[in-house]
Amino acid sequence: MSDDHPGFDTRAVRAGQHRTAEQEHSEPIFPTSSYVFGSAAEAAARFSGEQPGNIYSRFTNPTVRTFEERLASLEGGERCVATASGMAAIYATCAGLLAGGDHIVSSRSIFGSTTLLFTNFLGKFGIGTSFVPQNDLAAWEASIRPQTRLLFLETPSNPLTEVADIRALAELAHRHDCLLVVDNCFCTPALQQPLALGADIVVHSATKYIDGQGRCVGGAVVGDAGRVGQEIYGFLRTCGPTMSPFNAWVFLKGLETLSLRMRAHSASAAALARWLREQPGVQRVYYPGLEDHPQHELASRQQSDYGGILSFELAGGREAAWRLIDATRVCSITANLGDAKTTITHPATTTHGRLTPEQRAEAGIADGLVRVAVGLEDVDDLRADLARGLDA
Ligand SMILES: *Cc1c(COP(=O)(O)O)cnc(C)c1O
Repeated sequence: MSDDHPGFDTRAVRAGQHRTAEQEHSEPIFPTSSYVFGSAAEAAARFSGEQPGNIYSRFTNPTVRTFEERLASLEGGERCVATASGMAAIYATCAGLLAGGDHIVSSRSIFGSTTLLFTNFLGKFGIGTSFVPQNDLAAWEASIRPQTRLLFLETPSNPLTEVADIRALAELAHRHDCLLVVDNCFCTPALQQPLALGADIVVHSATKYIDGQGRCVGGAVVGDAGRVGQEIYGFLRTCGPTMSPFNAWVFLKGLETLSLRMRAHSASAAALARWLREQPGVQRVYYPGLEDHPQHELASRQQSDYGGILSFELAGGREAAWRLIDATRVCSITANLGDAKTTITHPATTTHGRLTPEQRAEAGIADGLVRVAVGLEDVDDLRADLARGLDA
């Protein structure tokens, strides 16, 4: 693309960099809690907001700002604010935009801690949440009340990879004067840009694919200058769940290789999904790239590839799932995802273990379900590892 409109990969490598007088090539880390002023008058001007500039790293930090500008550019948003974790991003969004008495309508297929945040903590402050099946548009609409301010979803969902129609839900939200918030953790902007599809706010757990190597915990919120740059930023700078400059630097470097990695994760996940489907003992494979996935066509329209997460259900229930997991030697038994190292989990007894058996059945989390977040190892080695598990 042209100089005026650099392409995604160019922005992933270069957006947000402001070289210092040292002329460093790579972005520097600024490990400083505060910044000095030339005079008492300058200090006063900074504090009053008359003069722009750094005051204290809970408010702004140059390394964090470079990460924010780069991610804002990749998501196509006016502003990004970085947070201490993905959960801090979701909490800051709610705390910045909502007040007691407001109401959220959320997909029920969301990250477990997000469900707990909505029910146990926002609930304490008088913010109610209704949960709906992700792909039932009529249920979303029926749950909207006069007090509803936010619609919240994650797509594809974890672990069953249900794909939500962002454009349709954005239209529904706007028809009812609500905002649509999308957790874009599984796709990242390399595969899906919710703001371009009509969403108002994107939240991220940078811990996952943005880091890409399982090193740091962090998050981000992207959207317009008013809501994100003022209301959500205002909450963050006062209440404090901000990102450290060290973590911002790791995430910044992660963004430089994001689209290469997402393509590689997707290619290996697709190959494994197709192979798993042919294996005896595997009842069902969940991956949006498979032609018989219920929202395959929607995923093809809305995403540029299908991502690195797949799940499959074994006929032998929990015992078969645990046997398979325990027989693998390459895959790591850990709950994280978005890592170069492939991770394998049993959702029914870990991420979804706190649900009652009825809630799990309703959510479609069978005892024989195994989730794999496909990493960057040789796909032949991963196939052999899962084959060892299936033979066990
Ligand atoms: C991990 C995750 C979160 C929470 O992020 P943390 O960085 O762990 O706080 C939120 N949403 C999704 C989809 C996640 O996978």
